[in-house]
Formats: sequence, C-alpha cells, structure tokens
Amino acid sequence: MSDNKKTLTITDAEWEVMRVAWATQETTSKEVTDILNEKTEWKSTTVKTLLSRLVDKGMLGTTRNGNKFTYFPLVEERKSIEALSKELLTKVCSKKVGNVLESIIDDSLLSFDDIDQLERLLKEKRKSAVKEVPCNCIKGQCQCHLVS
Ligand SMILES: [Zn+2]
Repeated sequence: MSDNKKTLTITDAEWEVMRVAWATQETTSKEVTDILNEKTEWKSTTVKTLLSRLVDKGMLGTTRNGNKFTYFPLVEERKSIEALSKELLTKVCSKKVGNVLESIIDDSLLSFDDIDQLERLLKEKRKSAVKEVPCNCIKGQCQCHLVS
C-alpha cells in the first residue's frame, strides 16, 4: 500500500497521535497520553487503542523492551501532509480548487519567506496555466453541468 493510501484511512484522533510520533520520532503510550493531555482528555486506554490501530494500519512500528512498548513512525510526516492536502482537493470540483487555495492562504499567517516561496511557485504555475480549468465531477455533483 502506498503512503498516500495509508494516510487517507486515518482518523482525526489517529492524526493527533501521529503528530506526537513525528515530533518525538520514538515514543511510548505514556508519553503520548501526557503530551495530548493538554488538548484532549483521552485516557491511557484510548491512546493505547489508537496506537495499536496505527500499528495495524502500517503508520507506526513498535518494539518491545521487557513489558514496555515503544512506537516510531513508518510514514514520513511530509508525505502524510501532502496526502492530506491532495485528499482535500479531491473533495471539490477542480474548477473550485483555485478558491480553496485562496481561502487557505487568506486564513493563514505567513512569513515573508513563505510569501516569497508562494510567489515563485505561482510564477512557475503561470507557465502551465489554462484559460479555464475543466470540471472533473460526475453529473449532478456540481453545477458545471447545468450550464450546457
Ligand atoms: Zn465540477
């Protein structure tokens, strides 16, 4: 299974756990519980369940030292974030992708470096831009088909 496919199947709760695994590179259920305690009220049993689901899904690896389990990421954070943004864009008509990107940028606090990077990227994208983006929806899932 590809990294992309794996990421698509993880829940929001599992994503929270993955962020700890990516940040620490090696962690325990106690550490995950302690860290996430600041934003969730998950009990250690909940975290243990999430960790074992992530192991089943191939997102985390695990090793056992005595009776203590440690967990480490098997999928890169960068790849998972890419898959997440790709997944988001498959949920809208391709004609609306420009609007989605616009609102993401509008809602984001950006550094000067980020903006330089985006400007460079946009300049590059202009070279392959089209007059009108074609709709990629099935009939009845967007309004593009109503016009013709
Ligand atoms: Zn469409």
